[in-house]
Amino acid sequence: MDRTFVNPRIMPKNIQPKLVAVIGRPNVGKSTLFNKLIGQSKAIATSVPGTTRDVLYDDATWNGVTFTLADTAGLDFENEALQQDVMLQTQMAATDADLIIFLVDVREGLQMLDQKSAELIRRLNKPVILAINKTEGSKYDNSAYDFHKLGLGEPMLISAVQGRGLGDLLDRIVIKLKKIKKISQIVRIKTDKPLVRVAILGRPNVGKSTLFNRLAGKKRVVTSHLPGTTRDAVATIISADKIDLELIDTAGLRRPGKISGVIERFSYLSLIKALKQADIVLLIIEAQEGILAQDLHIAQMVLEEHKGLLVVVNKWDVLDKNNKITADYDKYLSQKFAFATWVPYLYLSALTGKRADSVVSAIEEVWAALNIKIPAKTLNNLIADAYANHPPTGRKTLPKIYFASQREINPPTIMLKTNQPEEIHFSYLRYLEKKVREKYPMVGSPLRWQLIKSSNRP
Ligand code: GDP
Ligand code: GDP
Repeated sequence: MDRTFVNPRIMPKNIQPKLVAVIGRPNVGKSTLFNKLIGQSKAIATSVPGTTRDVLYDDATWNGVTFTLADTAGLDFENEALQQDVMLQTQMAATDADLIIFLVDVREGLQMLDQKSAELIRRLNKPVILAINKTEGSKYDNSAYDFHKLGLGEPMLISAVQGRGLGDLLDRIVIKLKKIKKISQIVRIKTDKPLVRVAILGRPNVGKSTLFNRLAGKKRVVTSHLPGTTRDAVATIISADKIDLELIDTAGLRRPGKISGVIERFSYLSLIKALKQADIVLLIIEAQEGILAQDLHIAQMVLEEHKGLLVVVNKWDVLDKNNKITADYDKYLSQKFAFATWVPYLYLSALTGKRADSVVSAIEEVWAALNIKIPAKTLNNLIADAYANHPPTGRKTLPKIYFASQREINPPTIMLKTNQPEEIHFSYLRYLEKKVREKYPMVGSPLRWQLIKSSNRP
């Protein structure tokens, strides 16, 4: 897979893949299974060139059904409180996931912890598939009977390492997912405005809830329950000039934050879920603490998902301000976010409310950017000029770009027809992007490229 290709997969609008989580005790084979299932069910890598991430979740498609598979192995803890950790992990996963793959290890046999986790899953009444791992070699088939005791239905015998039973497992996943009741649409007073979904993300204590409440406290239109979900998810919709805004409930990210390391990692599934649902992410950071690795990690995830992104520097009230400080902070942020120069920054105080209103208008601007339609002729001229000034360098011959056209909105996606897609490198796309953004800044919106091989003009 050439890293310069940007994934051409385009999810249908407003279809959120369901979240499937693999859970189980440490060492039962969760990561191995995750990697195998992802490997089996997709042909294309989705990594955005130039970014890296810990692969803890990914989209998979099987029999025409796309779902998000999450690996919770990163959530394991090897300390004395292991037992408690596993239970907590089970609980969090069970709350956030639409379907659970509960993995056990036939070689270690049925363990107390398996039983406790199974009990919890049964109580929560979540769709679950029990998979018994490490069953290669038939001598273990009898030991598998023990696991019927878990009361989670007929177990599937698999071997993640050897691939045994994985096709059947994927079949079962898809069948189960199809049965899950569609979450009914939120009720909303009829308006002509588009509904824009916004997730407020960030580390614990940066002020997410405070901002959420400040925004939600205003102009609230509807708060409604979503039947069909086990937890009572609440959709909060507020009305702005040009759009209605649905604030995605990130309750999962706002669990009590004292044992922060643990909680942050456990919140990962909620983070993925909120991210998948959102059109636009508000990444909240704290003015005094600045950007930490975790903030950049979230930003990378937002980019990978091609969502709109706004960075909110909160608690601006606690800084000693002078005239220079905003400019300095701008500079600091643009260094940190050098990989996404189009990301806007807002400075505010969720607590005092100072400039908190600017969030809504900024979101409206990002929404407009996400939905921009660049006229075909202008786009082609722009690309042709950029090409003429600085053509790409191919290994043998000069790669040609015949034609450019915008294929999608939200996010804007530009297709290039070229005779040598493999020679149009990421750095060249960055150059083209810079040129496009000089004319169309598209503040807060990512830009996607699709390279299509073609031997001549359309
Ligand atoms: P996790 O902690 O649950 O994510 O488990 P890992 O995926 O890291 O696997 C733990 C160990 O079990 C590794 O040494 C794997 O190679 C091994 N393992 C995973 N799947 C299988 C399997 O199907 N058969 C056997 N024999 N070993 C496996
Ligand atoms: P969350 O964990 O990200 O949801 O953070 P919270 O909204 O719970 O806020 C954490 C703490 O920071 C609380 O004590 C808030 O009162 C405080 N806080 C939130 N926003 C601001 C702000 O703009 N300025 C100041 N000084 N404190 C804030």
